[in-house]
Amino acid sequence: MAGTLYLVPTPIGNLEDISRRMADTLARVDFIAAEDTRVTVKLLNHLGLKRPMVIYHRHNTRTGGQAVVNRLLAGESCALVTDAGTPAISDPGEELVAQCAGLGIPVCAIPGPCALVTALAVSGQPTGRFTFEGFLAMNKKNRRAHLDALRGEERTMIFYEAPHKLTATLQDLADAFGPDRPVTLCRELTKLHEEIRRTTLGEAGAYYQENTPKGEFVLVIRGAEPAEEREATLEDGLALVDRLRGGGCPSGTRCVRRRRSWGCPEISSMIWR
Ligand code: SAM
Repeated sequence: MAGTLYLVPTPIGNLEDISRRMADTLARVDFIAAEDTRVTVKLLNHLGLKRPMVIYHRHNTRTGGQAVVNRLLAGESCALVTDAGTPAISDPGEELVAQCAGLGIPVCAIPGPCALVTALAVSGQPTGRFTFEGFLAMNKKNRRAHLDALRGEERTMIFYEAPHKLTATLQDLADAFGPDRPVTLCRELTKLHEEIRRTTLGEAGAYYQENTPKGEFVLVIRGAEPAEEREATLEDGLALVDRLRGGGCPSGTRCVRRRRSWGCPEISSMIWR
């Protein structure tokens, strides 16, 4: 009978967030598959544990994953851990879980630290419906396509971002959603210098132009106002014209005419110009 793959979350900053179940699982499994064994060994030292480890990271998902699966099929149990937070959430694990699920290998997810859930809970933004968007792509075209697809998104949106890319990302987000869109920046969650900044995209951009961003960030952005309650503005129309033209649609074509917002004469004249 196959062994179980345990997904074991690890602290996102505060070591006190280790639960008894996480520690017990790490102590009990046959081996640990770690994103970076140098990081995990520090956690194990903190727990007073010495355990066999293998590496499973984003660059060896195929070979490393197959090695883990072979051992699971042979009856061993494995704990998958990443450097911080929940495995498989913007972290290695997704493919391994899918592979195990396909082979009927039991997978057990242990609840624990996860930056997106912690940020959403503290954000003060609506939590009833939300969408997790992970990291924006580095590639300009993919990044723009991602943001374009979110323009009318009414659910709260959650993004991960690294400090050195934060200012550029805030600018792109302000371009996509407008500078007045409320955002909560959650920095260094659970750590000594935890900071929650509730502001707007425009103000956040201006602040971080002056103050170099440091630490890890989650951005929680308010969704768009519901479409039926919101009048199309001239800015909406201009952005739409830009997007359609960028996508190769010449002015005055039918695909432009079919879109909404034609109630606004200034927008129509922009499109037909
Ligand atoms: N799997 C992890 C999780 O569940 O939280 C996320 C891993 S992802 C590679 C790393 C990103 O998570 C960081 O760039 C940052 O956006 C966010 N993050 C992780 N720890 C954080 C913290 N303590 N405070 C704020 N954001 C954090």
